[in-house]
Amino acid sequence: MMHAYKFRLYPTKENEEKLLLTLNKCRYVYNFLLDELNRQKVIDKAQLQEMIVDLKRVEPDLQDVHSKALQYENYRLFSNLRSLSQTKKHGRKVGSLRFKGKNWFKTFSYNQSGFAIIENNTRFDKLWLSKIGEIPMIVHRKIEGKIKQVTIKRASSGKWFASVITETENEVPQSTNTKAIGIDLGIKNFVFDSDGNSLSNQKFLEKSSKKLGKEQRKFSRKAKGSQNRNKQRIIVARIHEKIVNQREDFQHKLSRYYVNNYGLIAIEDLQVKNMIRNRCLSKSISDAAWSKFDQMLEYKAESAGVRVVKVEPNNTTQICSNCGINVQKKLGDRIHECQCGLIIDRDYNSAKNILNKALLSERQESTPVEIEPLILSEQVRSKKQEALSVRVGQFTR
Ligand SMILES: [Zn+2]
Repeated sequence: MMHAYKFRLYPTKENEEKLLLTLNKCRYVYNFLLDELNRQKVIDKAQLQEMIVDLKRVEPDLQDVHSKALQYENYRLFSNLRSLSQTKKHGRKVGSLRFKGKNWFKTFSYNQSGFAIIENNTRFDKLWLSKIGEIPMIVHRKIEGKIKQVTIKRASSGKWFASVITETENEVPQSTNTKAIGIDLGIKNFVFDSDGNSLSNQKFLEKSSKKLGKEQRKFSRKAKGSQNRNKQRIIVARIHEKIVNQREDFQHKLSRYYVNNYGLIAIEDLQVKNMIRNRCLSKSISDAAWSKFDQMLEYKAESAGVRVVKVEPNNTTQICSNCGINVQKKLGDRIHECQCGLIIDRDYNSAKNILNKALLSERQESTPVEIEPLILSEQVRSKKQEALSVRVGQFTR
């Protein structure tokens, strides 16, 4: 099982120089590999990998960077390439991969080796990175398992962070919680769930967004290249970072809530959702927030033995969750009103449909023939049967 941690780094001046050097050299290698990739008639990942070795001969500076970090850039390149071609396959218009400028390259990774965490019993522990040295770091959470990868990130505000991914061997037993929930992610409401709970998107962003807007306008008025402009840039970055942190904190709590209270969580497949939904809505912000929440939900669920079921988002808005007929809605129609008598918030209706879809697909996928009757008699089953249904992976609402 995988775990993810994020810790703040407090590099010394000397640390920071080396961190920046590594960042720059990794960017250089990434761009070099992209250039080579563009020249290749037949894409050959292994050949690019070997080129890194050749490149180090002509660019001796690269010896100052941990070799795994450089190799990781090839992996990163191909992972970008893969997601690009997937997006294309889904019919989105995209260009080709871009070369990374200084401000667009903020992370580098050590995979499998070249790192260690040194515990100090003081406020600061240390992260040792090969070729960089020992960097003070606050480990505010106990790290479980074997560290597989360390990714260093420089935020726009200039702060440094380490994302640590670990793996533990123990398999988590499936949660015994039989409650299931459907979650609809939206623009107006960040979530609306099938139990009728909702959280407005507006609430927690409004305040900081106003402030951000104000400082951004100040920034745009400062003369280009001036000292004041640079100062203002940092102020804007700090507010932005604060908003990101607030949002992350809120997403952590929310995902924790669902994982603690339910045994099955149904959510829309975001890749598909993003493709089919209206383009004019404040797209990128919600895209990012949704996928972050989705990630948190998944890894928390995994460590708790809770199932997350992804469903196709099509028709979840239009269909009546009570009787199944199609009730057409325009974008602005906030209420689902059906002839069967169901009148509820449109997002609430979607959440119920998402849950219904997930429960249906669970049955189709995981139900062996011999327990068929159990499902048919679901509504009148006894306590004993309920226990059995848990074992075969069934969930109730
Ligand atoms: Zn209906």
